[in-house]
Amino acid sequence: MAKKSRLTDLQDRRLRRLAREKDLTCPDCGSSEPVPKEGGQPKDLPDGGAEAPMRCEACEGASEIALVLSPEEAQALGLHSLGEGPEAP
Ligand SMILES: [Zn+2]
Repeated sequence: MAKKSRLTDLQDRRLRRLAREKDLTCPDCGSSEPVPKEGGQPKDLPDGGAEAPMRCEACEGASEIALVLSPEEAQALGLHSLGEGPEAP
C-alpha cells in the first residue's frame, strides 16, 4: 500500500494559526478562519517554501485557499520531511 503523507494534528494546528497570522481569508465569505483542506498535501515551492491548501469551514465554499509558507515556516512545520523535499542537504 502506498504511504500517503498526511498532516499531523500538530501541523494542522500550526497551519490554522499561520493562516490567522497571515490574515488569510475566504474569497467567498470573508471568513478569517480557513482550515487545512482534508487530504490536502502541501506543495513544495521552488524557493524552499511551501504552499498548503486550505478551505473555508464557514461557508463550505468550493474555493481552495492557498496558504504560502516561507522556507522557515515550512521547515518548522516539518513539511519537507513528509517526502519529496526539493533538495535535502
Ligand atoms: Zn467562506
